[in-house]
Amino acid sequence: MKSQQDKHTAVLRGVAVSPGIAIGKAFHFDRLESQVSLYKLRDKGLISHEIKRFRDSVAASVRQLREIRRKLGRLEGMDPLYILDVHIMLLKDRSFLTQVTTFIRTMGVNAEWAVRMAIDKYREIFDKVEDEYIRGRFSDIQYAGQQILRNLGGRQKEALPAMDEGVIVIAADLSPADTAQMKIDRVQGFAIDMGGKTSHTAIVARSLEIPAVLGLERISRSVKTNDDVIIDGSAGLVIVNPDPEMLLRFERKKRDYAETRRELLADARLPAVTGDGHAVDIGCNIEFIEEIPSAVTHGADGIGLYRTEFLYINREQLPTEEDHLANYRRVLTAESLRWATIRTLDLGGDKFFSDPKLAKEMNPQMGLRAIRLCLREEELFKVQLRAILRAGAGGNVRILIPMVSGIEEIREAKRILAELQEDLAREAIPAGQDMPVGIMIEVPSAVVIADALAREVDFFSIGTNDLIQYALAIDRINERVSYLYEPLHPAVLRLIRQVVDAGHRAGIPVAMCGEMAGDPLYTLVLLGFGIDELSMNPLAIPRVKRIIRASTQKEARKLLKRVFSYSSASEIRPYVEDYMRKRFPEAFPVAES
Ligand code: PEP
Ligand code: MG
Repeated sequence: MKSQQDKHTAVLRGVAVSPGIAIGKAFHFDRLESQVSLYKLRDKGLISHEIKRFRDSVAASVRQLREIRRKLGRLEGMDPLYILDVHIMLLKDRSFLTQVTTFIRTMGVNAEWAVRMAIDKYREIFDKVEDEYIRGRFSDIQYAGQQILRNLGGRQKEALPAMDEGVIVIAADLSPADTAQMKIDRVQGFAIDMGGKTSHTAIVARSLEIPAVLGLERISRSVKTNDDVIIDGSAGLVIVNPDPEMLLRFERKKRDYAETRRELLADARLPAVTGDGHAVDIGCNIEFIEEIPSAVTHGADGIGLYRTEFLYINREQLPTEEDHLANYRRVLTAESLRWATIRTLDLGGDKFFSDPKLAKEMNPQMGLRAIRLCLREEELFKVQLRAILRAGAGGNVRILIPMVSGIEEIREAKRILAELQEDLAREAIPAGQDMPVGIMIEVPSAVVIADALAREVDFFSIGTNDLIQYALAIDRINERVSYLYEPLHPAVLRLIRQVVDAGHRAGIPVAMCGEMAGDPLYTLVLLGFGIDELSMNPLAIPRVKRIIRASTQKEARKLLKRVFSYSSASEIRPYVEDYMRKRFPEAFPVAES
């Protein structure tokens, strides 16, 4: 093994999606591979036991593959199974066996972890091979390794190693199901090839306050399990095998970050009212009930968006009405939160692609997702709606319907709601009365008919993540077009203005719950529109509130007027950035390079 000093230091740049500094060991997450835990063999005697366990599982793997070969060989028409011979050969390969036993002996780690490290090492070697065919042969090594892991009993449900100090998850891609499976308290940071600011890993990372850098393109190929990694989730940097000086610098940065955070929290609970008396309700976006305390400490007035789809992920059975209800009741337990907006399930798109039960669609973002799926699978929808109605008996609960593209969808949803209300009344089950029903405005067609929609519902919530995606035709999880993702595009700004104006003309409040709402750069622009509620990830709240308190709506309107005098984002962005940085320098610290 090379010492740390000999290892190559690399700095990778990606999209900064969740702020903070994480310093730790890499864990290469690969959905296809068996996930293994690391444990240290503190007692030397255990090492020889571990080596024996490894050798036994190799022997068992060879036996099994031979048996498979024998059985298949008897089938008519089967060619000699060279591929199995290759796997058997690999299992007997001296350098592989020595590599694993050396890891166990010198590092005092369990056999599963050592196998995993050896596979990663081979991955590194194969990645360098020019010939595509030979490079592809890495899958044989993976297969052989998996066979051993299975025999070690390593094929565990747990999708993350149980390490004392936590890990930095490195992956090509993570689905919501992957993150839901992880022991999230073990994750110190995320560094992922795919994704951008609004992909779901980003959203989960932010809401759980885990530093994350996405869109790194090739990090999963260059970092191995156990490499030392630093993530700077504020600057979008990942440093692999840092030298000691870098390490010191980032440890200091990490302490500074914690200090700033403490300072920001000091006035987080003060209301968001401008100098000229315009009050903005501040909501928090959550995916998990566990985030409620963070919402409270960061100063949320209510829950502006509860993304309930996470209740459906990573379970064998669909959640029952009681499962839903138990969760929704817990949302209402924090006394300082004045309301809870529960969004009905928004499965599909980038939110459930790992579930084989849902048909794979060519274009899932525009496919059978959210309200479309709910109206198709009415029984599934009803289970959730009944639970939301019942939760409404215990507090101020709002219902929010995602992905509405036409008036029929909301009418249909309301018809089902009315039916369920009647059922509950008949069954003498307490339910909320006259609960506000709102829709997400995230499909351009909904903006165009916002005046008509406003007559059907009690509030709007603008979902800029999807609205920008659809309006500018940019796949929100495709990092290759993320440079086009522009909240300050004049088209986006006009859409927002249209929605706010239509809502206000009809006398209903308009919220925004997309990521744009939580970026302090846009706070004054949004204030200028007269938006009633901004809902965001908990971390963003204190800064946005400070900006609102330090400004007036008059100033915001003036800024917006100027913004609308420009016809391109390339004029608007520098103007807004410059204005905001000068006006609120403490909210936009200059990044240290
Ligand atoms: C949005 O689209 O802006 C939104 C808030 O919903 P999601 O990110 O869950 O699609
Ligand atoms: Mg959306």
